[in-house]
Amino acid sequence: MSRRRTTLLALTGLTATALAAAPPSAAAVEPVPEKQPLAIGTGGAVAAVDPDATRVGLDVLAAGGNAADAAVAAAAALGVTEPYSAGIGGGGFFVYYEAATGEVSAIDGRETAPLAMGAGAFLDEAGDALPFAEAVQSGLSVGTPGTPLTWARALEEFGTLSLAEALEGGIRLADEGFVVDETFRQQTADNEEKFRLFQPTAELFLPDGALPEVGSVFRNPDLAGTYEVLAGKGVEAIYTGELAEEIVETVQDPPEAAGAAEVRPGLLEPVDLARYDAPMREPTRIDYRGLEIYGMAPPSSGGSTVGEALNILERFPLSSMADVPVLHSYLEASALAFADRNAYVGDPAYSQVPLAQLLSDEFAAERACAVDPVAALDKPTAAGSPDGEYGPCPAEDGPTAGEGAEGLSTTHLTVGDAAGNIASYTLTIEATGGSGITVPGRGFILNNELTDFTFKAADPTRPEPNLPAPGKRPRSSMSPTIVLDDGNPVLALGSPGGSTIITTVLQTLVNRIDRNLDLAEAIAAPRASQRNSPTPDAEPAFIELYGGDLGALGHEFVPVAELGAATGVEYLPGGLLLAAAEPERRGGGSAGVVQDVTGDVGPDDPQLAPELGQN
Ligand code: GLU
Repeated sequence: MSRRRTTLLALTGLTATALAAAPPSAAAVEPVPEKQPLAIGTGGAVAAVDPDATRVGLDVLAAGGNAADAAVAAAAALGVTEPYSAGIGGGGFFVYYEAATGEVSAIDGRETAPLAMGAGAFLDEAGDALPFAEAVQSGLSVGTPGTPLTWARALEEFGTLSLAEALEGGIRLADEGFVVDETFRQQTADNEEKFRLFQPTAELFLPDGALPEVGSVFRNPDLAGTYEVLAGKGVEAIYTGELAEEIVETVQDPPEAAGAAEVRPGLLEPVDLARYDAPMREPTRIDYRGLEIYGMAPPSSGGSTVGEALNILERFPLSSMADVPVLHSYLEASALAFADRNAYVGDPAYSQVPLAQLLSDEFAAERACAVDPVAALDKPTAAGSPDGEYGPCPAEDGPTAGEGAEGLSTTHLTVGDAAGNIASYTLTIEATGGSGITVPGRGFILNNELTDFTFKAADPTRPEPNLPAPGKRPRSSMSPTIVLDDGNPVLALGSPGGSTIITTVLQTLVNRIDRNLDLAEAIAAPRASQRNSPTPDAEPAFIELYGGDLGALGHEFVPVAELGAATGVEYLPGGLLLAAAEPERRGGGSAGVVQDVTGDVGPDDPQLAPELGQN
């Protein structure tokens, strides 16, 4: 069947201003097809990993809510349908563009370490790092959750709904249930051993002792009840109220299943929850080819590492280069930026992070000297010296840092509303299935975010910015990103994937801005991830396409099944919005718009990829 091609402007016949003024109507919402990876239309856009969450976000937009309202509502829905990646037991970073002020702001909802946690918390009696899995599935890995306060703050700062209103969709979903798909079943299977260690987790996620069946309805009345408590009493219930006590008890004395081995208890005390804050942070900003790229500042390394790599890449005329040299430059810039990330980025309250220098054009120019167009650098390559004194192409020195172990799960949610407000929100409980510990009767899993700390400094003679400390936030890689052009919204995106989040976001930006793929294609394209390793990861399709040519330059890829699961939203000329999600990875994501014209536009319309920036 051939698709009708119509120009985007002709389709809408409306300007962005007119669209913003048009009253939203719930009746106008069309059902979101299951896991549609591309949606084009008006009235607002949501891209998430899950169609139920996308639907909840779209309903809020259609009823007149803004991007912040829809993002919180969709996140609450993800807490139900993606309980192993997102939820009130975890944390995240919420980056927001407010059309009325033209400002980009960020909420830091990262988990914090207990006050009782010292630098050696993840070492055994002999001073060796604990086995990673043992640390994950323990009370020790659980930090004070930041997600509840992030939701409250996002609504307070930017939203129009109360928390109770924003939680309605999630409560309904938890009560009525969602249909189990293959991804949910598989994630449960992957976690089965961990979940069987803890009585309340096994009861909830392995009903009748078995994996949930694909096609069955999964209900979580306990979580509905917990959301009701938050709706009625506010998030204080989690930080100082009845739930706080239950969280502390659960972490200090994990509810092991009968016959299961005991796990390490955690250190959380009531004071750790009571003193928790999710502060507003100045987002990172760099200019890239005339566009403004905003990201998450430390304690995330997302904004600084994506930003530094883009600044390095800006030295190369990527849009006029062939794919292989573009990808070679991307891999090298990423390795250099990761060397600096590992050496210098941690919680800024605990060590001096040279953020301005890491993001300066002068530092990038110095680092770019290391990129040889015809040969890959030896990896790991040394960190640079972001000290404000830069010369042309210096010899490399400084600390060498490899990549630590990080979890591979999280979720990213992107919302753009008709008025131009954008929420770019990455949230996580760290590993898929987090610590594995469910708060009894409450329907949510506690995070294992504290395993994002470096357990033991690789080189004790050099400063290590990411060791545990009382109240400290572990370094993150989450990279919720917003791109503006002269202050106007262009696009937003993000991804899960531990430290590969950074490379997925970076590669997708290069695909969209420099290779001029449309956002859906930029997300779907095969990925590679170079995090300063002699053996970078790459998806089989990437290796098939580019492995030979890049191999000849010295890139030795290790195949991994998939990297990331990105979502994004773009504002197209003429007032249309494009929502994009994965077609395949993690079982496919879900893109939706309030008024959908996707079928009329056609996926290959050149107007879906207007040229961005000054290439
Ligand atoms: N905990 C990771 C981070 O903050 C994210 C987890 C993941 O995406 O796998 O960087």
